[in-house]
Amino acid sequence: MMAAAQPETIFEIKRSSIYFCRKAKERIQLGKGFFGVVFKGHYKGEKVAVKIVQDGSMNPQDFLNEAQIMRTMEHPNIIKLLAVCTKKEPIYIITELMKKGSLLEYLKKNRQTLDISHQIEMAVQVACGMDYLENNLYIHRDLAARNVLVGENVYKVADFGLARVLIKAPSDSPNSQYYRVIEGVCLPIRWTAPDAIVSNRFTIKNDVWSFGILLYEIMTFGMEPYANIKNNNKLIKRVTGGYRMPCPRDCPENMYQIMSACWMMQENDRPLFESLHTMLSDLQ
Ligand code: AMP
Repeated sequence: MMAAAQPETIFEIKRSSIYFCRKAKERIQLGKGFFGVVFKGHYKGEKVAVKIVQDGSMNPQDFLNEAQIMRTMEHPNIIKLLAVCTKKEPIYIITELMKKGSLLEYLKKNRQTLDISHQIEMAVQVACGMDYLENNLYIHRDLAARNVLVGENVYKVADFGLARVLIKAPSDSPNSQYYRVIEGVCLPIRWTAPDAIVSNRFTIKNDVWSFGILLYEIMTFGMEPYANIKNNNKLIKRVTGGYRMPCPRDCPENMYQIMSACWMMQENDRPLFESLHTMLSDLQ
């Protein structure tokens, strides 16, 4: 009898094949996010980012299954997953290195030099990456400026699929105030469509809602969404009741119209990423 085909796990690598870059003997930290700490390293002669996931926050087998799908995603606006270490905790996630870090920090740091043409370019590139995920029937679940990375004139969607396999919200990580676990699913409340919060059901149209929030972050140079409503329960009630954020200062009306279309109450009324990509490209 033939043995059942094993899922291909070539990209499961030995920890020893990763070299961590150091400064004064300390590993160089690129950042700390909701899923763990990220370090600069080398793998197979290439500069990489190594994310060390906090112990207990994911089931290694669930993550490995998800990672098998993630690594098939190849697009200039999607972060390339290069390898993983899942045999024991902590899990390592090795991706291409993005020199300028997260879009959220980039927006906050560079607001003096960025103008509307840069903002539209960011939106177009993220929409292009999401159009690719949409075509591949892949749902991100955690699209936000903190999960977009910046290189030389390039913006790439990162951290897709991770929210699906997260089983425990790491409590001491930055941004943890934005996430809440509802029926075992970790949700970034301020970026999640009200229908997805209520039904705990996710479609690409929830990503479209989140993309509208991401456009808001881009147009406000990284302001917190709904900054005036601190309480998450109150926020859910207000948004379910029809409240939407007003047009940000200096945001062109046509850009606000696109954002607002992403926040239509009925998910069928929200555009697909394919048309968002076209509409945003038309603004260039
Ligand atoms: P994350 O856990 O993905 O939210 O990452 C936390 C922080 O680490 C980000 O905000 C970035 O500043 C940095 N980072 C994550 N991945 C990369 C990468 N591939 N290249 C460069 N910096 C990264």
